[in-house]
Amino acid sequence: MKGSAQQSVIQRRTIALVLFCVCVFVGAVILLSLKTGPMPAKLGRPRTDSVRAAPPTAKAREQPKVEALPVAPSDTIQAPEGTTTVTDADLNYLAARNLLIPVAGVPASRLRDTFTQARSEGRQHDAIDIMAPQETPVLATTDGLVLKLFQSDRGGVTLYELDPSGRYVYYYAHLMRYADGITEGKQLRRGDVIAYVGDTGNPGAGNFHLHFAISKLTSPHKWSGGDPINPYPLLVRQ
Ligand SMILES: [Zn+2]
Repeated sequence: MKGSAQQSVIQRRTIALVLFCVCVFVGAVILLSLKTGPMPAKLGRPRTDSVRAAPPTAKAREQPKVEALPVAPSDTIQAPEGTTTVTDADLNYLAARNLLIPVAGVPASRLRDTFTQARSEGRQHDAIDIMAPQETPVLATTDGLVLKLFQSDRGGVTLYELDPSGRYVYYYAHLMRYADGITEGKQLRRGDVIAYVGDTGNPGAGNFHLHFAISKLTSPHKWSGGDPINPYPLLVRQ
């Protein structure tokens, strides 16, 4: 009886000692993981539970790397995007803008589709010519912004209007003169008088008409030279 009593005391002490050691070990591990955040992530990849248990610090440190990754690919994607041609989505957008025939008093029945006509030096017209008497008011085809007032040999007195989307430019050429108050940066409303029909540029004296073109910008910093879009089907819808 005495021996067995001693044995059970030893057993209890052993169990108590083991439990104490386990508690100390567990406590040490918990303290270590709290003080050194990233350690569990590095040490314990198989222990996914412990990694998930300490997410705030681990995530906070990983975030800059995650953000840095998409920047490089998007830069390389943007370059080819600028050279894409006109899509159905572009045409649908412009159709929804309900463009106004940009010369006062001209009905759709008087418009002629000359978009694909040949021009000098192998060029295509890429625009519509709207015949009208001299000094007929030229109207903003839609809301927008006066992007550029420009004089050129071919176009004469011209105006470039930027669509609110920032993706399309409306081009008015051979103008006699601009309307009063028209300056670069001015906001336009659909139907505003922006200029008057003339024959400046290359049409020849007395060939009064508005040369009207729409282009999709291929560079956000360039107002001319975008991909041409035929205005005719967009204007005759009315
Ligand atoms: Zn023309």
